[in-house]
Amino acid sequence: MPLDDIEIFKGFIETSFIDWRAGLSSVLFTGGCNFRCPFCHNGPIVEDPDMWSTIPMDYVIKKLTEQKKWVERVVICGGEPTIHPELPDVLRALKGLGVMIKLDTNGSNPAMICSLAKEGLIDYVAMDVKGPLEGYSRWCGTEVDTEKVADSISFLLKGGAPCEFRMTVVPRLHAEEDVYEVVRYLGPAAAFTVQDFRPEATVLDPDFADIAPFPADVMESIRKNVRRISASPIETER
Ligand code: SF4
Repeated sequence: MPLDDIEIFKGFIETSFIDWRAGLSSVLFTGGCNFRCPFCHNGPIVEDPDMWSTIPMDYVIKKLTEQKKWVERVVICGGEPTIHPELPDVLRALKGLGVMIKLDTNGSNPAMICSLAKEGLIDYVAMDVKGPLEGYSRWCGTEVDTEKVADSISFLLKGGAPCEFRMTVVPRLHAEEDVYEVVRYLGPAAAFTVQDFRPEATVLDPDFADIAPFPADVMESIRKNVRRISASPIETER
């Protein structure tokens, strides 16, 4: 597909210090998602991507080219980037600029993750794991093919791409034990981050706006217990 016809980006942060730990990055948000996690804080672009104007590809390419001297990293997040069949074409174009690319994904499309990695189009993957795999759909607000999620995890754990896994811990939805079950499933070598729930903008399920995040001391205790199980915890929240 010609690049000019590709309309997957609904948001663009030109410079960010917080979206890729490795350094300064630009962040591109794709619209739409195949999950409906009730705690999602990007609900508006998930639920109704057409409400948001598209960032034209020629603008993206122009900005990234201008910034290339000081911003060498690009984060592709969403929504869920891998629902877009045009993603490989986009990443080929971005790679042509010489940037490094991090993919944020819910892991629902292992075939695309695998082919992007094999083609050298992604340098790093951050995969959200929503909770223990058994009964996975209850974390995601919709029916989910758990085998595909498991395949993505397996591909990444076998060294398919440098990666980390992240889990947002949500009171009422998760018990603390759910976090430890995920960490044990991933194994001690998996880089793992526990993320705080943020009730702002939980438009996919407005009831979640009334849920207070776990207090700081509970989150610290969870992180301490994660450190006991995992050899590779990541200390920051993102
Ligand atoms: S949190 Fe869930 S619904 Fe929101 S973008 Fe991620 S996978 Fe999609």
